[in-house]
Amino acid sequence: MDFAERYSRQVLFAPIGEAGQRKLAQARIAIVGCGATGSALASLLARAGVGHLRIIDRDYVEPSNLQRQVLFDEADAAESLPKAIAAARKIAAFNSDITVEPHAADLTPDNVEDLLADVEIVLDGTDNFETRYLINDFAVDRGVPWIYAAGVASYAVTMNVLPGETACLACVFPDSPKGMVETCDTSGILNSAVNFVASIAATEALKLAIGVRDQLRRTLLSYDVWTNDLATVSADKPRPGCRACGKRDFVHLEGQGRPHISMCGRNSVQIHERERPIDFDEMSQRLAPHGPVKHNEFVLRFWREPYELTLFPDGRAIIKGTTDTAIARSLYARYVGS
Ligand SMILES: [Zn+2]
Repeated sequence: MDFAERYSRQVLFAPIGEAGQRKLAQARIAIVGCGATGSALASLLARAGVGHLRIIDRDYVEPSNLQRQVLFDEADAAESLPKAIAAARKIAAFNSDITVEPHAADLTPDNVEDLLADVEIVLDGTDNFETRYLINDFAVDRGVPWIYAAGVASYAVTMNVLPGETACLACVFPDSPKGMVETCDTSGILNSAVNFVASIAATEALKLAIGVRDQLRRTLLSYDVWTNDLATVSADKPRPGCRACGKRDFVHLEGQGRPHISMCGRNSVQIHERERPIDFDEMSQRLAPHGPVKHNEFVLRFWREPYELTLFPDGRAIIKGTTDTAIARSLYARYVGS
């Protein structure tokens, strides 16, 4: 499609203009997590013409996602497509001129270098502080700007982290904030709250990509779309003595003692195996006598009441129906391998 025609309305916006639009076409941005916030970010930035988007997500599409995760549809949920793959397919249908690189993976200390080293901006579409602290440590260490964004219930919060200039995530939240421990699984979420925060973060990303740093917000912004309560807290300066940006102690990059098994919301447990490539055809035959099993090229599902096991080609698994890591580990050992 003709470049000038496609982006004509955005180029008319003077602060972007033709020069800005060309910069966007050269931009490389990673979106970590492609649920509600990540979908909205990816959709907005792909439509705006960001030339290279890397989408990293560990999960697959489920019916309960469709209320707010704007890139997915019923067919994606029926197929249990990995969100990264479904997102890339959907974007290709409305903007085939840009490059979208999907990674159906969990961002970990082991792969953070591979996945984030060659991008100029990192956007937060995650739902957990473990991954956000990993992004923060990596970004502060490398001097890469990133944008924190979170939503729960009717409430959304976002902050730009410009390493060396503004506060980082560990300046503001030295530990996981208690108030945000409630999750979408316990408190619900309004689709307008996540789309609001994604709109703010996507716009800040556009400014960063075209180099308009004087217009960037330098506060922690929170807004409740239900009560209309708005709050901003200055994040203009790093906090003296901050573990990450002050002392440069990047504990989350080391990943030592990081469990190979973790909770991932919704009454489920994730097992992070990485060195166990799985042949889905062979595995389906092996599992068939034990319960219903189906697979496509991206994911294999196996039902063993009351549990549901979702297996990815690299050996990673999400086990639904329990929060007990011992049960999850034993199901994995029994049906996949120990
Ligand atoms: Zn800091």
